[in-house]
Amino acid sequence: MSLAHSLSRDLRSGVFAALDALQLPRLFLSSAPRVLLYHGVTSDTGEGLSAQAGIFNYRGKFITPQAFRKHLEWLKRDFDIVPLTEMLEERRPRSLALTFDDGYANNYTDAFQVLRELGVPATFFVTTDWIGRPEFMSPKELRALKEAGMSVHSHARTHAFLDAMGQDAAAGELESSKKRLEDILGARVPYISFPGGRYNAMVLERARQAGYSAVFTSVPFSLKRHKDMFMIGRYAVKNTADEKDFLAVLKSNALERNSLKGAYYCKYFLRRSFGNGFYYSLWKKLNYK
Ligand SMILES: [Zn+2]
Repeated sequence: MSLAHSLSRDLRSGVFAALDALQLPRLFLSSAPRVLLYHGVTSDTGEGLSAQAGIFNYRGKFITPQAFRKHLEWLKRDFDIVPLTEMLEERRPRSLALTFDDGYANNYTDAFQVLRELGVPATFFVTTDWIGRPEFMSPKELRALKEAGMSVHSHARTHAFLDAMGQDAAAGELESSKKRLEDILGARVPYISFPGGRYNAMVLERARQAGYSAVFTSVPFSLKRHKDMFMIGRYAVKNTADEKDFLAVLKSNALERNSLKGAYYCKYFLRRSFGNGFYYSLWKKLNYK
């Protein structure tokens, strides 16, 4: 594909994304889905993990058990933290759901302990090729989460971006990760969060055909549908969040939340236009001085 064609396609999708972010008719809806996205909880601040998992900006995504406990205490004062399915089906204005992506071992060893102590439910989206590897959860741990009232869903098979694949490869990721988790858990797995939050029309349609009823992205507070399938955005919590800005975001009105969405789409546009490598090198320059 020529550069000019690729740029014009990105410009078009950027314009549509910006219009979508405005969502004028929905500005005053108060029942935007509040779904928080975490990655890990650990007291280990070392950098050894990041190279192994091949994921950038890892450190900014893990928080300490103390910070996680504080988040839950703040949240419980203002919101009902409910299972993801309940939040989706009832969407009460004060309800909120917690999710974790990737399936790191610390989700079980650290996050789960805090969740259990405070009686809070959460959902874990797991990349199935990583199950049982060092630093990731085992099948037994996934079953233990489920038995304790948590839910476990798919985060694809290899964590490769689905929108960068051919149809058959994407369908294979969607179907095989679902099947693997269903075999491990002995239960239906109707939800998926897309690696990198990345998707396109092909990915959505393949997800629907694979039998998913809801897909989760990283666009804060968005709720859309693809035919009979829900598309739900999430707010990614960083380790720098303090009570003030954290709750300000969650309690903000629709206009403020939409400006967050706009910022997300700007980053998305940069990434699409200049490539992930460029985006992450810029990101690292800005974040790791
Ligand atoms: Zn991920």
